Amino acid sequence: MGKKPISEADKRMEELVSLCRRRGFIFQSSLIYGGINSCWDYGPMGVELKNNIKRCWWKTMTQERDDIEGLDASIIMHPRVWEASGHVAGFTDPLVDCKKCRRRFREDEFDGDKCPDCGGALTEARQFNLMFKTFMGPVEEEASIVYLRPETAQGIYVNFQNVLGPSRQKVPFGIAQIGKAFRNEITPGNFVFRMREFEQMEMQYFVRPDTADEWFEVWKEKRMQWYLDLGVNKDKLRFHEHGTDELAHYAAKAYDIEYEFPFGWKELEGIHNRTDFDLQRHQEHSGKDLSYYDQERKERYVPFIVETSAGVDRSLLTFLADAYEVENPGEKNERTVLRLSPKLAPIKAAILPLVNRDGMPEIGHKIADELRPHLKIFYDGGGSVGRRYRRQDEAGTPFGITIDSQTLEDETVTLRERDSMAQERIKIAALKDELLKRTAI
Ligand code: ATP
Repeated sequence: MGKKPISEADKRMEELVSLCRRRGFIFQSSLIYGGINSCWDYGPMGVELKNNIKRCWWKTMTQERDDIEGLDASIIMHPRVWEASGHVAGFTDPLVDCKKCRRRFREDEFDGDKCPDCGGALTEARQFNLMFKTFMGPVEEEASIVYLRPETAQGIYVNFQNVLGPSRQKVPFGIAQIGKAFRNEITPGNFVFRMREFEQMEMQYFVRPDTADEWFEVWKEKRMQWYLDLGVNKDKLRFHEHGTDELAHYAAKAYDIEYEFPFGWKELEGIHNRTDFDLQRHQEHSGKDLSYYDQERKERYVPFIVETSAGVDRSLLTFLADAYEVENPGEKNERTVLRLSPKLAPIKAAILPLVNRDGMPEIGHKIADELRPHLKIFYDGGGSVGRRYRRQDEAGTPFGITIDSQTLEDETVTLRERDSMAQERIKIAALKDELLKRTAI
C-alpha cells in the first residue's frame, strides 16, 4: 500500500513542529525513552512564551479590572467534588475500536460507521471516563481514590464563599485561575492541541440569574478581542455556537472561539453560561449554603455563572501558527519569521555587535547589563550579522540592537524591527524606555 501524500496543511504543521524543536520551544516529553505520545515539554523559548501568554491573560483579568479576584486551588480535590460536578457520571467520550486495524477513535469525531483509517467494522461505542484516577495515601483501595482535576473550574466553585468574604466583592464579580488540568483523551494529537496534561486559564463570573444572558454577550466579545489585541489574524477567528446536541451537561448556552489551525477550524476557548448548576450541585452535596444575599435588591439567590475557559497550550499553538511565516520561499532572500506580538515574544531584543573588535563587544555587554533587569534580552556576539538577525526572526524576537562604528562616535545604535526589517538610529540612553514602551504587557 502506498503512503498517503503529505498535504500542505500537514507540511505546515511539520515545519512548525520542527521549528519548535530546533529553537527550543517545545519538545516531546521523555524523548530519550522514545517519547510519550500526549505529553510535551516547553523548552527555554516555549516557557517564556507560555509565561507571557499567562501574564497577559492574568493582567487582563485581575489587574485591569477591580471585579475579578485570582485563585490558585489545588489539583487534587475531595473526590466528592467530582460526584457533585457530574464528572464521575458524565465526563465521558464514546470510544470505538476498529475490529480490523485495532485503532481507537472517539465516535463523535468522524462521520459514518466504518473505521476512518481502513474502512473496517467498528465495535459498539462504550462510554469512557476521561478523568485520571490515582490513590491518596499508602493504601490502594476504593476508599482512597482521588482524581487529577479535568478542569480548573471546580476549584473556583468550592472557594466561592472563601473568596467572596475577604475580597468584599459584590455580585457581579469573577474569580480567575490558571493551572494544570488532566484528561485521559482517547485520541490526543495535533501537537499541543490535544494533550493529556495541559493548562487552562479559566474565569468564572458570578452574576444575578436574570442578567446572565447580558454578561454572556459581554464576555464573549471581550474574549474574542483579547486574541485580536494580541495580533491574531481576524480572518482566522470565528465563533461557533453549540447546538443542543453539543452542549455539555452543565451548560445552557455555549460559544466556542475557533481558530483555523493548519488542520482545520477547531475550538480555542469556550464561553459558557453554566447557570446555577455548579453552585446548586455543590450546595446539595456539601450541605453548605452557597447562596448570595444581594444587599441592594434585598433578595437571596444562587448566582449564575458565565465561564470563559481557555487552554494555555492551545492559545500558544494559535499564536505560533498564526505568527509563522516563510517569506520568499525557495529564493535567495527566504526568511522564516515568527511575527509574534512583542508582548508575547520570548526574547524582546537581541544585542548584536557588528564586529568582535574595536570595543563593540564591550559596549554590547554594557547595554545588555543595563537592559537585563527590565527585559528578556539575548547577546549574540558571533557570526555574520545577517545570519544572527535570521536566527532571531525565527525565534520571534521583535527587536535587534546593532552596535556599529557610528556607535563609537555618537552613542547611538541601530534598532531593527523584525517584521518590516526597518532600521532606525536611537541613542543608547533612550533604549530602555523605548523597548519597554513597545514590549510591555
Ligand atoms: P474539545 O471539544 O476540543 O475536547 P472541550 O470542549 O472538551 O474541548 P472545554 O472542556 O471547554 O474543552 O475546555 C476548555 C478549553 O481547555 C478548551 O477550549 C481548550 O483550549 C482547553 N483544552 C481542553 N482539553 C484540552 C486538551 N486535551 N489539550 C489541550 N487543551 C485542552
